[in-house]
Amino acid sequence: MQKVRPKKNLGQHFLNDVAVAGKIVDSLILPDGCKQVLEVGPGMGVLTDFLFEKKDLHVKIIEIDKESIHFLNEKFPSHASDIIEGDFLRIDFKKYFSGNFAVIGNFPYNISTQILFKVLDNRDRIPEIVGMFQKEVAERIAGEPGGREYGILSVFMQTWFDVKLIMILNENDFSPPPKVKSAVLHFLRKKNFVLQCEETAFRRVVKTAFNQRRKTLRNALSSLVTKELSNQIPFAELRAEALSWEKFVELTNAVENIIAEK
Ligand code: SAH
Repeated sequence: MQKVRPKKNLGQHFLNDVAVAGKIVDSLILPDGCKQVLEVGPGMGVLTDFLFEKKDLHVKIIEIDKESIHFLNEKFPSHASDIIEGDFLRIDFKKYFSGNFAVIGNFPYNISTQILFKVLDNRDRIPEIVGMFQKEVAERIAGEPGGREYGILSVFMQTWFDVKLIMILNENDFSPPPKVKSAVLHFLRKKNFVLQCEETAFRRVVKTAFNQRRKTLRNALSSLVTKELSNQIPFAELRAEALSWEKFVELTNAVENIIAEK
């Protein structure tokens, strides 16, 4: 079989080390009897080999690149119905899965954050994600508050998932090598989690706070709470990057109360 020519615009960096691929797949916990898995961007199927080996799993793979699709169909002739040609960002999950499914992949780096936003929007059905990211992006998403890199996605992912960085890979672990190191993140959805504030308001507060991340929250949130009332919000003198998701919940409730009393 002829190898796939790597295409830069699709973020194609193929993993060289089969043993590493096996470890990535083995990091799936598949909580609560989850038996369905969706792999994003299988490329030449280095992770897929291990996924299809697990006979009790229903694995589907989605790949945007025609050349890779052709390769995968040749490599896995008995899995034709599990190979989806398409864009993960546009896939309608209902068409392929009923019930819960885990998401796994060496994600194309140009859309890795969009992949997570889509996962967040569908988190009711996605109890677990294992994904490869650029190391810096991974550290930001898994990181503690305080750093300049900590952002919206860190807060949202850490709100609903337990996030762990489980592996760091070098440039040369891939062909062609990317410019930066990579890291694998493991996300496990929190059990019986209930957000202790209104979700739309939470999203609005987090986004507004980070939109002007260099300002104190008093100033960054002035479109939601006037400056005169802003001494009633907690953490007013801090910046968004200083707040854990729990503190954002507290902040959201305070903002909601102020708006309600007006
Ligand atoms: N899993 C393979 C390839 C990783 S490279 C390996 O580890 O070797 C990322 C893969 O994602 C490429 O095959 C690329 O074609 C695919 N891809 C890029 N954008 C995509 C999208 N929007 N939806 C699905 N797959 C995509």
